[in-house]
Amino acid sequence: MANPNCGKLVYCTRTVPEMNSVMEELGVVLGYRSEQLKLDRESNNASVGEGGDDVSSQQGLSGDVNMADAADNNNASSSPKPKKRKRIYGPKKSNNARENMGPCQTDANGSGGNGTLALCLSSRRNMCINERVLRESDRESIDAACRSMTAPWALERAKKKSSGLGGELEEEEEEGQQQQQQQSNAETCTYYDGFKSAGEATSMPSGIYDLEALRKWGKGKNWCPYYLTRQAINHASVLVFNYQYMLDPKVAKMVSKELESESIIVFDEAHNIDSVCIEAFSVTIQSRHLEQATRSLGRLTSEINRVKASDSARLQQEYQNLVNGLVDQGLLDTDPSETGLASNVLSPDVINESVPGNIRRAEHFIAFMKKIVEHLKARLRTVTGPSGGVTSETPLAFLHRMITTTSLEAKPLKFSYSRLSSLLRTLQVPNLDDFNALTDVADFASLVATYSEGLPRFAIIMEPTVGGTPNPGIQLACLDSSLAIAPLFKRFGSVVITSGTLSPIDLYPKLLQFEPCISASFNMSTFRPCIHPLVITRGSDQLPVSTKFQDRGDMGVVRNYGK
Ligand code: SF4
Repeated sequence: MANPNCGKLVYCTRTVPEMNSVMEELGVVLGYRSEQLKLDRESNNASVGEGGDDVSSQQGLSGDVNMADAADNNNASSSPKPKKRKRIYGPKKSNNARENMGPCQTDANGSGGNGTLALCLSSRRNMCINERVLRESDRESIDAACRSMTAPWALERAKKKSSGLGGELEEEEEEGQQQQQQQSNAETCTYYDGFKSAGEATSMPSGIYDLEALRKWGKGKNWCPYYLTRQAINHASVLVFNYQYMLDPKVAKMVSKELESESIIVFDEAHNIDSVCIEAFSVTIQSRHLEQATRSLGRLTSEINRVKASDSARLQQEYQNLVNGLVDQGLLDTDPSETGLASNVLSPDVINESVPGNIRRAEHFIAFMKKIVEHLKARLRTVTGPSGGVTSETPLAFLHRMITTTSLEAKPLKFSYSRLSSLLRTLQVPNLDDFNALTDVADFASLVATYSEGLPRFAIIMEPTVGGTPNPGIQLACLDSSLAIAPLFKRFGSVVITSGTLSPIDLYPKLLQFEPCISASFNMSTFRPCIHPLVITRGSDQLPVSTKFQDRGDMGVVRNYGK
């Protein structure tokens, strides 16, 4: 942090409890650092008072202190030696780990002293402060409820309503379907409105903010902590978030695209990093999802007809945008969080051309998607028949079969996801979650068509049962964990992978296909014998024993096996 040439420190964790404990430790470490720098300033000031150079004026008052310069100045000075620096033997222990959280109280002291801004970012479920939205049951519903209040068209309609243009809307509501009524009745979020109306004035004082501190700060200001944090990322010196924000292209496009290449990326507890990379690129579609996708296509058809009757210029504008090219219409630049849509295809592999003519018209695209869905259904029927069973194919073989059976071309298939994304935005669909199955099918088609050439990095596995139930499914399984992490090695100068159980250590460079600059393992030293073989049975309620991190606080585990 003292080095101005160094970008941010980005610390990736796996779970929210891990994220919170990292923030707590960070608070202690940065508090200690500020204390040391303060002592340094005091000792330098004392030396000035005794006739030394004015070192403090070179350091600035609240900026980071350049320790090397300060040392040089001290050596060069012919003045009496500065006072001996007070030794501190370690960070002060505090019973209240949260006391370091939140905005820094003084200009240069405390854990956020010297202008350090440390933020963590998580999903809306962990950051939202809107009571009504928090009543939703799961993460997807919370995301959907938030989007329905923050999407550009939802804000536009709310604005029209409040400015007295409600009559126009009411007419539309009468014509529209139930779904459209829900959309027009949707309120906006006061915290999002507060954040947007503050505009440029939204800023965060330096400090260490964990999720709770962010929620508290947001509530105090009437600003949404989720959107505020995403905006403040560019000004932070330390960022703590989940692996997915760096590795999953869908989320990474939203969060980490503007990080400086000098940033230091740390993956903590990285012994499962290869599985996270593989999961980020795998797509599973079950037969019931294909039925849902068919229903979604039916809904989109009626929605297209409705928009054609009431606002055909909107569809015409979309067509024109598609003719002008994918980048021109802003599909790649659109903030995916506004639409909830972002493809898994990596940015360098996205075709930078206009969408092929045969899928530009909305109706043609719907017919195109129907063919894909029907083809997948037909393929799944073969695995459930008497001669069925688990089968595996390369993407090239799968694509070849799809093209010959359906007469579709490979190039439009690559555009399936971005074309669907454009259509959903044009139709201003209020609840995107209802279209998850369809977006999975489009993502599947885009990935198969994009990554079919060269060495197979994916396998297509079709099984008659998924998750132990007789529900056939088709999986696009990523086989190459380096696919997700390779862009990070290209983009950032320092990527650190660390874990207490990264073993065997030589395996990870092979799995993730990189050449380590430094690879080191350290012997563990303990002050007590910490390995004691233990034989245990199941508890009285037959609960199996688990050492999983998430289960450590589970009362059943604590009751049976202790803490
Ligand atoms: S804008 Fe923020 S506070 Fe409002 S619903 Fe969305 S996440 Fe919650």
